Amino acid sequence: MEALIIGSGISGMAAAVRLAGQGIHTTMVSPCPSERSESVMAAGGINATVTGNDEGDTVEDHISDTLKGGCFLGGEKAVRGLCSHGEEIIHYLESIGTVFSVGSDNKPTRRAFGGQSKKRTYFCGSSTGKQIVSALVMEARRYEANGMIVRRLRCSFHSALIKDGVCYGAVIFNENTVHLEAVYADFLIMATGGQNALFGKTTGSNLCDGYAAGRLFMQGAELKNLEFIQYHPTSIETAQKRMLISEAARGEGGRLFYLDNGERVYFMEEKYGERGNLMTRDLISREMNACGHDVFLDVSFLDGETIDRRLPEVRDICLKYRGIDIKKDPIPVEPSVHFFMGGLAVHLNHETCIRNLFAVGECAAMYHGANRLGGNSLLSAMYSGLVAADEIAGRSSYVRFPDMTKFLGEQRRSLRKSLDSKSSFPVYYVRDMLSDTMNTRLGIVRDEKSLDEGLNSIGFYLSIAEKIRYDKTVPVYANYSLEAMLHLAGATLKAAMERRESRGAHYRSDHEKTDERYAYATLISYDSGDYRIRPDKEKSYES
Ligand SMILES: Cc1cc2nc3c(=O)[nH]c(=O)nc-3n(C[C@H](O)[C@H](O)[C@H](O)COP(=O)(O)OP(=O)(O)OC[C@H]3O[C@@H](n4cnc5c(N)ncnc54)[C@H](O)[C@@H]3O)c2cc1C
Repeated sequence: MEALIIGSGISGMAAAVRLAGQGIHTTMVSPCPSERSESVMAAGGINATVTGNDEGDTVEDHISDTLKGGCFLGGEKAVRGLCSHGEEIIHYLESIGTVFSVGSDNKPTRRAFGGQSKKRTYFCGSSTGKQIVSALVMEARRYEANGMIVRRLRCSFHSALIKDGVCYGAVIFNENTVHLEAVYADFLIMATGGQNALFGKTTGSNLCDGYAAGRLFMQGAELKNLEFIQYHPTSIETAQKRMLISEAARGEGGRLFYLDNGERVYFMEEKYGERGNLMTRDLISREMNACGHDVFLDVSFLDGETIDRRLPEVRDICLKYRGIDIKKDPIPVEPSVHFFMGGLAVHLNHETCIRNLFAVGECAAMYHGANRLGGNSLLSAMYSGLVAADEIAGRSSYVRFPDMTKFLGEQRRSLRKSLDSKSSFPVYYVRDMLSDTMNTRLGIVRDEKSLDEGLNSIGFYLSIAEKIRYDKTVPVYANYSLEAMLHLAGATLKAAMERRESRGAHYRSDHEKTDERYAYATLISYDSGDYRIRPDKEKSYES
């Protein structure tokens, strides 16, 4: 049996290692090595409730916090599965070499993250993602050595091989040969992360551009909860991207304030009390947006050893990129797009509506509902990869692969045609306009008129998409990915427009209240250029 995985961050690697361990030959495709995936950026930690913890934390507490944080749109069965496997995942990570930070009793210690009733975030200083990626890379290498895992680097997803509702692998673009290749497989797992590049500069990786989700949407996969986009309240601007100031800084006691006539106003504490700085990310981002002042985060009152031991990356980022010594000065912070709760709609086993096509990690919409709690996405990246792999290992190989040469030929011709086009719209010009539209229309606060205007802009960009000029100075991938990215953007604006209420990360100034008539997930499908919204009242993916 053959599995093909697109993406080699934590979720892709978790799936690959688990598949290979069960004797399933796995090919992992990504443009860059795992060490360049967004997963390495994860700083703050991974959530789990471990037996015998000293806070009396229970799996039920974790489930309840996760469901509440997601405004009850993360399916209960899914969240139960996720939270009840936290302990097993922590022990597994330790067993493959992840070294978690320990307390004075020499046992792994935990920190508080926003929206949590108990301290349950396990961490490795402030480089948790790097440590987990390193451990998984080492594990994957064992299987690469015996040929059970094959890595295809400098390769990107182009389209899925789908016939009669069944997936048989993918067409990939090989940067080395500048060619499209068909890679047949019994199972295809998408692990391509979020959709940062739709917004230009975010805290995340621009390799995560949403193209794969957009293309699969055009090929018949349903998308879910796209309107829920998490803004992280604390980032600093740099030339290339926004650097995250991890929630760990507030978990360790950091305080947000603004200056009013030279006086510090600790606005979150004034409004929400002692735990004000640890309210959920959407709420803090909105309060920062509404306060009308530049906001700062202060950790300088913490003792130097705590900063060195627990927040070394925050210290380094501030010093390196802005020359700020956080032991002395406050950090000027701004909200930034950070995480996508929405993505490919998947069942509990992580299969999409297309048979044998799975999605895991941040590109799949499952556990986080209307808002994700910090520390839950590393857990879900790990868990979803393992769930999909176990599901596949329990299945038998699907009959013979159909002949897809006609499809491959069409894709090659269409790519060639777009590369030969001689229009006056350079790709990066349209991509810049796209990210302008997304940032303006899908900000922290939205309204009908602005979303409608955004949708019209996307319509215009799509109308010129066919005429976009191939620019020989940009990678071929950047050219062919644009149209599907535009459709994903359009679907996101449409989903945000149709949810006429405020819930979690989706806040509408023209519908400020949560409306129980909207207590369902949004599903959206593609129909020859149109987007069809389906309120998921029947919870069709919770099986
Ligand atoms: C700065 C930052 C800090 C974070 N901190 C935390 C934290 O402390 N705790 C927590 O729980 N979560 C955190 N997160 C979120 C978490 O890191 C991510 O949700 C998680 O790592 C996603 O893993 P993934 O495997 O789904 O995707 P990624 O790690 O993003 O990997 C995606 C892979 O897909 C590949 N890819 C993308 N498009 C294509 C394509 N078209 N063709 C082929 N390959 C493609 C990429 O190259 C990459 O290999 C943080 C995120 C950021 C940005």
